[in-house]
Amino acid sequence: MTAHDSRCASCGQPLAGSYYVLVDRPERFCPQCIATRPRCNTCGAPLGNHFWKLHDGRQQCDACHAVAIYDPSRAQDLFQQTAGLLATGMGLQLRVGVAFRLVDAPTMARLRGLVAPGQDTLGLYRRQNHVRVIYLLYGLPLLVFRITAAHEYAHAWQAEHCPLLRNDFLREGHAEWVAYRHLLQLGSHKAAARMLDENHPYQKPLRHLLNLEAQLGVEGVNAYMMRVDD
Ligand SMILES: [Zn+2]
Ligand SMILES: [Zn+2]
Ligand SMILES: [Zn+2]
Repeated sequence: MTAHDSRCASCGQPLAGSYYVLVDRPERFCPQCIATRPRCNTCGAPLGNHFWKLHDGRQQCDACHAVAIYDPSRAQDLFQQTAGLLATGMGLQLRVGVAFRLVDAPTMARLRGLVAPGQDTLGLYRRQNHVRVIYLLYGLPLLVFRITAAHEYAHAWQAEHCPLLRNDFLREGHAEWVAYRHLLQLGSHKAAARMLDENHPYQKPLRHLLNLEAQLGVEGVNAYMMRVDD
């Protein structure tokens, strides 16, 4: 154990006995900080004495801030890159296409029709009449941005190609599967493996879609989605 490892990443005090870690993060935290410190709104880590306050009230730790996407034009470029990789690499072309907007937490809450900002709404696909838009929260770490953009892009594809599909398990499973495969496209194998973790909310529907892929292949899964009508 190095000297760096034996200190709490939040308060800097030496770790005497038990300590906490977060999934796939090198930092260790003391029980006191886990119990009492405010958490990073993005990753849930206890905040240190130095952290970042976003204009919409979210608080972000140094690790999330270092890789966060704040710039709308950079976000636009990343989204177009994701859309291109999903269209060419997974056969998920859009006929009509979809616009992309980077928004803050109160705007996202308003779009969802919530009174208070929802902690978990990182992205949203909305179709109103002929206007189709994907909204993403600004300040997301790059990999979270990629996962969320791919997930919402899949919903945009579903809206065009599977208009009759109502089954939420399949809709969310397919969207997570697209995000999972997108991480593999980007070479982010560790991040993809994390999506199969027990604690991941969409882990079950994702595993179901991976089973389908093993039987049908990637194109076959998309064709299957277009045939389902419940
Ligand atoms: Zn501590
Ligand atoms: Zn964080
Ligand atoms: Zn979804």
